[in-house]
Amino acid sequence: MEHKINAYDSVLDLIGNTPLIKLNKLTANLQGNFYAKVEAFNPGHSTKDRIASYIIDQAEKKGILKEGNTIIETTSGNTGYSLAMVSIIKGYDCILAVSSKSSADKIDMLRSMGAKVYVCPAHVSADDPRSYYEVAKRLHKETEGSVYINQYFNELNIDAHYASTGPEIWDQTNGRITHLVACSGTGGTISGIGRYLKEKNSDVRVIGVDAFGSVLKKYHETGEFDNKEIYPYRIEGLGKNLIPTSTDFSVIDEFIKVTDEESAHSARELARTEGIFAGYTSGAAMQAIKQLDALGKFDKDSNIVVVFPDHGSRYMSKVYSDKWMEDQGFMGAEVEQETHSVQF
Ligand code: PMP
Repeated sequence: MEHKINAYDSVLDLIGNTPLIKLNKLTANLQGNFYAKVEAFNPGHSTKDRIASYIIDQAEKKGILKEGNTIIETTSGNTGYSLAMVSIIKGYDCILAVSSKSSADKIDMLRSMGAKVYVCPAHVSADDPRSYYEVAKRLHKETEGSVYINQYFNELNIDAHYASTGPEIWDQTNGRITHLVACSGTGGTISGIGRYLKEKNSDVRVIGVDAFGSVLKKYHETGEFDNKEIYPYRIEGLGKNLIPTSTDFSVIDEFIKVTDEESAHSARELARTEGIFAGYTSGAAMQAIKQLDALGKFDKDSNIVVVFPDHGSRYMSKVYSDKWMEDQGFMGAEVEQETHSVQF
């Protein structure tokens, strides 16, 4: 009798089908039942694995990409990591144009994953030929068979979540989901899941999380792009200073804004109370849930699904560093656990 080896063909087989995990202690005093879609269980530790593999698959199907061709994007974050990972397995070159603001750790991580990283000056305007946008565009023009992912203006970003994350959440909740709470950056996650859920049940409330300093909430409410909404903030991956075409505003019922400080504390609290070590925007989503509960948006029968986009390990020198928290002036409210050394 043949004994089969029980193994995956590659890390790509592990993309998607992430677990839905019930939140217990952190939400004990809130109305409703809370479930987290924990995207750190993807092999690249974030939700961006889904769009990287989906967009590359589509480009292959259309005959745009063939082995040895090149994937190009402008990101030092999760999308860059996921694209580098998919490129390795599928045999593509991966070029990432990143800003000189990106930390050395992030650049090293992308290079470790085989990407060619072009570090471009941060303090030039977007239309300067040295900017990372222009460098990516130029490389795309010069490189035959290359694909420029352009996640903020690529509707395949929505389709990736419509095809996978949406159906997973619907099935995992047996269609009993009443509310979706998800951060909006490119908007791909919330739009793809939201579109799928609304088609299944138009009563599902789709709530986007936005940052103070971003234009998304105001644009959703008024249709107006208001420059006055834009100012610097610390959370990465949430909110935007432009209107992405990868956001389908029509499937989002409302946006709620969260602060850098409260989101940071919520991320730390999530780790300590639920044992889920997630990224800064997961803290933002958790913070949004607390605010929505205080506004009376849920009742005892609500089944709320919140998306946690990535893993906490990418934020060791930020929200999970006491020093960073102190430097931001965020430590006042939190009673820190002391570090004890114990003799056995
Ligand atoms: N959280 C993190 C950490 C991200 O990198 C992103 C992507 N920019 C998001 C949330 C938001 O996801 P989306 O781009 O699909 O709106």
